Amino acid sequence: MAFGNLKDIFKGSMSIISYETGGEIEKNKLLNENIPKNQMIQNLIKLARHGTPLFKIGDDNPKIMIIAGLHGNELPPQIASLWLIDELMGYKIKGTLYMIPFAIPHATMENSRRFKGIDMNRIASKGGYVSNNIVKTIKMLNMDAVADFHSTKPKSNPGRESVFCSKNPSYKSFEIAEYITKATSSESIGYDDAGTLYTGALEDECNLAGIPAVTCEVVSENGEIDEGSPQRSYLQMIAYLKYFKLI
Ligand SMILES: [Zn+2]
Repeated sequence: MAFGNLKDIFKGSMSIISYETGGEIEKNKLLNENIPKNQMIQNLIKLARHGTPLFKIGDDNPKIMIIAGLHGNELPPQIASLWLIDELMGYKIKGTLYMIPFAIPHATMENSRRFKGIDMNRIASKGGYVSNNIVKTIKMLNMDAVADFHSTKPKSNPGRESVFCSKNPSYKSFEIAEYITKATSSESIGYDDAGTLYTGALEDECNLAGIPAVTCEVVSENGEIDEGSPQRSYLQMIAYLKYFKLI
């Protein structure tokens, strides 16, 4: 099954939303050395062998999502998302946070940007790919906002700590980016219209569907963890949660 009914497959706080992406997270040694080892995270890692895990915290409105690992070799946001899960365990948030800490466990295992040779953040508009399954899940769950977390190597594009956003058709994308950039050392990179830079980015597909979305970047070498980069990604996540007053 590539894509199932979430109501059927949600087991407790975890489910799988794509069944072809499974991988052994612990084989990415660098990542594995830097993540918390509580039971919940161990369970998430076990689930990731079977596909893309979705983790849910809270049970109220607003409903927002955090995604990491759409590029498997971008380690800081994947680490930060697990720190966040660890931090929020036992904490009552005011809303619901859906988290995808490793969008493509197989690519994370291989420390690879691509999955089956394809950049999944350029193909979210096309059915049958994991990034499109994530977009479908976002729509099905009536998400109020989405933030997709990445890292960018120095001297690349963008090559700087930043938050991508657009004003049309989801103006709130711009407002979320403004908030995160004021609360962190990130710079806002805004476009007037979603989807003008290239097609098939997850952020753009959400904005085009009327679900406000941003893409957050911190600077780190691909496949590595530059000093302080998971912390900076974590601070972007915290600012995003604060914008929606979840914490
Ligand atoms: Zn990326």
